Amino acid sequence: MSQIVIVDDQVTNRNIYTRLAATIEAGVVAKSFADPNEALEWLKHNSPDLVLTDYKMPQMDGAEFIRNLRAIPGAEEVPVVVITVYEDRTFRLRALEAGATDFLNSPVDHHEFVTRARNLLKLHRHQQLLASRATNLERELELAERSRQRLVRDSTERLAQVIDTLPVLISATGPDSRVLFVNAYHTTFAGLDPASVVGQPATRLFGEEHGARSHALDRMVFETGRALPSYEEELLDADSVKHVFLTTKSPLKDPLQKVTGVLTSSLDISDRKKTEAHLHHLAHHDSLTDLPNRTLLREKMRQHIMRARRGDQLFALHLLDLDGFKAVNDLLGHSAGDRFIIEVSRRLRGIIRDSDTLARLGGDEFAILQSNVAATTDAADFAHRILTEVADITTFDGVALRSSASVGIAMHPTDGADAEDLLKNADLAMYRSKAEHGNAFCFFAADMQARARNDALLDAELRLALANEEFILYYQPQIDLMTGRIVGAEALLRWNRRGEGIVSPGVFLPRAEENGMIVPINEWVLREACREARAWQTSGLPPLTVSVNMSPVQFRKRNVPLLVARVLSETGLDPRRLDLELTETIVMQEPEAVASELQQLIELGVKISIDDFGTGYSSFGYVKRFPVSRLKIDQSFVRNVISDMNDAAIVRAIVTLGHSLDLEIIAEGVETSDQLAFLRAEGCDGVQGYYFGRPMPSKDFIARVLEEQPLARTA
Ligand code: C2E
Ligand code: MG
Ligand code: MG
Repeated sequence: MSQIVIVDDQVTNRNIYTRLAATIEAGVVAKSFADPNEALEWLKHNSPDLVLTDYKMPQMDGAEFIRNLRAIPGAEEVPVVVITVYEDRTFRLRALEAGATDFLNSPVDHHEFVTRARNLLKLHRHQQLLASRATNLERELELAERSRQRLVRDSTERLAQVIDTLPVLISATGPDSRVLFVNAYHTTFAGLDPASVVGQPATRLFGEEHGARSHALDRMVFETGRALPSYEEELLDADSVKHVFLTTKSPLKDPLQKVTGVLTSSLDISDRKKTEAHLHHLAHHDSLTDLPNRTLLREKMRQHIMRARRGDQLFALHLLDLDGFKAVNDLLGHSAGDRFIIEVSRRLRGIIRDSDTLARLGGDEFAILQSNVAATTDAADFAHRILTEVADITTFDGVALRSSASVGIAMHPTDGADAEDLLKNADLAMYRSKAEHGNAFCFFAADMQARARNDALLDAELRLALANEEFILYYQPQIDLMTGRIVGAEALLRWNRRGEGIVSPGVFLPRAEENGMIVPINEWVLREACREARAWQTSGLPPLTVSVNMSPVQFRKRNVPLLVARVLSETGLDPRRLDLELTETIVMQEPEAVASELQQLIELGVKISIDDFGTGYSSFGYVKRFPVSRLKIDQSFVRNVISDMNDAAIVRAIVTLGHSLDLEIIAEGVETSDQLAFLRAEGCDGVQGYYFGRPMPSKDFIARVLEEQPLARTA
């Protein structure tokens, strides 16, 4: 049903229009007004579908009427037809400006009136329909948006809940190292209120030391835009209980891939570590006495041998076997026999120092690795104590008995270069004691006087060797794993001993370290290696670095930076081509003094490597404090890296932590392609070992480099 409003001061017109309106379509209701003011009043409360108005009216003209009409809310869209005399162009314009929709000429043509009105009505209805559809659509969209927002809010909240309850420390930090986010598990772990942490520097959450380390690692993520490989770390909880975590750091990026933060997540692996440690313990200890077993003893000996090469103190291996233990077993039974063994181990534990190793090799056989032996008499004194201690057991289980042991001693390096030799020779010496009716100790080769004489002879020979130029350097290639090319060589000392041929440093260096000869010898090594490396440089070989092993004695007795500076200027070698290999022992002996010397060396431009890394104190703590550029993973870890999970884990940890401290990692002692593949996969930067070449004379080394770089020949 359509409603039409008619406004005209003439009653005749109103009647005609009303009649005409009724014919427009079925159900049309016409409402007519003589006074436009009344019409306006009515229009405030009604919304007709069409308005017809005369232009000339006494109260107001059509234009003013329309303007008033359009001002009524809801009446903006209603079509308004103005009836004017044909010529009234100015009126029409004014009416249009006021908002008229159409015009009809007066006097009105009936047919035109009906057609125009019908079309306008139709148009108006369409417009209304469209408008209502648009409103509906708008409302639907609004509803959809609201429910989407609710969903997002819900799932974000749920996600936050999940993150809060995960048993993982999760936090995020921004470029300014402030905490962006931290989960509840983390704040509970640290015993902090979340509100006091977010927006604060990360040290609030992590503490000073761990915070600084975390910040350094974050910076790497910001710089590279990439996640760091996971690494293990120890953290204390609010009750100061130590936990081991496997930590991952990855970048948080905005839609433009710019790194805006670093997400740190740490998984508590303390239990796994405990299990691993337990398994490791089982594999390395004797189940009856809980003493180290033969495997662990061998490992300890290897470490000592390494250090002895560096001029640390000598060591002695004591092998002891109880005399007549079979009789104890027979007399008291097996279980008492076991307890007797435990009693012996308890007593032996009481006489060793922390740096010594007491092991049970099986049955009634024990071994003691005595470290820091200055002279053979120290070993003899200690063996005597062992005998006294064992003989002190005079009753057991209420039974009086006589207890004694036979001890065999092998000294390193005189009585054997490796663990197997030492064990074998100590065993031979032990049998000699047994043969002398037990309760005695015996040195391998027994003749201590001859030993001393040998030492004196060696001292004299070494002095002559230096004067007679009997020392030579061999060079072992070092390979960069990125390019697969030789990038340098380690200079290794050899003695071309008269009548004996080439002798390894293991035979004479310990003695040279002891008697101080190492200082002039190593000075010669440094000068010779630099001279040789300078010759490589000038003969057109690609850039090669030479590594020189330094002795702890040198650092104790000489101003090393001064020596290095002098040798560099004498030989003209580019300092960047010289790498000094130091051991952990050197660094540890006087940390403050050594740190300042290393700083001076770095300022000269030479590189510093830590050799045999992992065998000594193997702490990253000190590596951080010294200006070191490279770590050399010790060959004892590389040797079993394929078969021993622990060694593999140690190598992995060294690479990861080393890299996180910006250190280059090189592995030494690589002998097989399997070892190489493992080291490559773990991200080692360089390798050295028999697999690529044994230490060789310089001319062979040059040939090797040329073989690899045929073009260099013409350069
Ligand atoms: P280092 O510095 O750890 O040198 C590596 C040793 O491992 C060398 O023994 C080398 O020949 C050996 N090696 C290299 N690749 C392999 C491999 O694949 N398998 C095995 N089993 N061994 C490998 P070398 O030449 O007998 O030297 C022994 C130690 O003597 C050196 O250990 C170093 O500590 C010391 N040394 C050598 N030359 C000097 C020197 O000029 N001055 C000082 N102070 N010490 C030196
Ligand atoms: Mg070395
Ligand atoms: Mg080494």
